[in-house]
Amino acid sequence: MTRDESLHALQQLPKAELHLHLEGAIRPATVVELARRHGEALTIEEAAARYQYSDFPGFLEAFKWVTSYLREPGDFELVAERLVEELAGQNVVYAEVIVALGVMLWRGQQPEPVFRALARAADAGRKAGVRLAWAPDITRQFGPEAAMDVARWAVRLKEFGVVAFGMGGDELSVAAREFRAAFDYAAENGLRCTVHAGEVGGPEDIRQAMELLHAERIGHGIAAMHDAELRRTLARQDVPLEVCSVSNLRTGALAKQFGRPAKLDEHPLKLFFREGVPLTLSSDDPAMFHTTLAGEYDAGLAMGLDATELADIAQAAFSYAFISQAQREKYLAAFNRSRDDLGI
Ligand SMILES: [Zn+2]
Repeated sequence: MTRDESLHALQQLPKAELHLHLEGAIRPATVVELARRHGEALTIEEAAARYQYSDFPGFLEAFKWVTSYLREPGDFELVAERLVEELAGQNVVYAEVIVALGVMLWRGQQPEPVFRALARAADAGRKAGVRLAWAPDITRQFGPEAAMDVARWAVRLKEFGVVAFGMGGDELSVAAREFRAAFDYAAENGLRCTVHAGEVGGPEDIRQAMELLHAERIGHGIAAMHDAELRRTLARQDVPLEVCSVSNLRTGALAKQFGRPAKLDEHPLKLFFREGVPLTLSSDDPAMFHTTLAGEYDAGLAMGLDATELADIAQAAFSYAFISQAQREKYLAAFNRSRDDLGI
């Protein structure tokens, strides 16, 4: 199978996307549309220029700028509708979408009307064959009190399709232990937990996410490349890394882990896979990183994994999704039928 044939087959598979930020998926054309709604003339070139940056703080700044256009519940509904279109086009049938609830509260927005609007978009999505679940996250640098607020809201918003609680933002800003109360509360109230860790931080940050914050999945986790014992622990405890390789390249996280400029083919994805570290592939902030889920699979091919190995990874996303056992079996059955048909 050539690389093109492999990519084509992987595109056809019905996939799950487990690490995808709603705000980071907003394409420049949609920002232009949002700006127009709010009476601001913004050109596509101006919007696209905002998506160019060279380091992690630059990315966070761009993220903040994009979210400044999410002012009304209808704005969130629009971007969720666009996301559904994009996911449907890539044969993504299930996505857990991270929503920056911490940013929403920081801006003084009312979460309930927003999540009502998101739930409407999710209903429409289901009709298009894409199921969305929401994973509100806290912004680490906003600190533990803001985090507790987000946790309380996340639990209250379960009726709108919230399934998980997570943490993103600046990993190096505040110690994990400060967030124990928020994650305890979320877990005790039935939310599943994921934490961005070991993206720009070290292996210890991954351990702390697992030991202190109930993390059932780790966002990125590339710092595990430095620590074989940690990789064995991840495998033993069956805690997957949500790998987003293009993101790691674009934010400079990969270079930070190496302490020097790094190329995509140095990414530890292949090492993790070969060692049996559980993992999934995701696009993180696809608009901001100029990628797609298909782009992540293409990157996997470029790193030397073959179509069958990448199909195994695609399958794992359903195994680690925060869904019921019955739903998992249904998705896996459809996935396996498609996989057989495609011969990968
Ligand atoms: Zn992320």
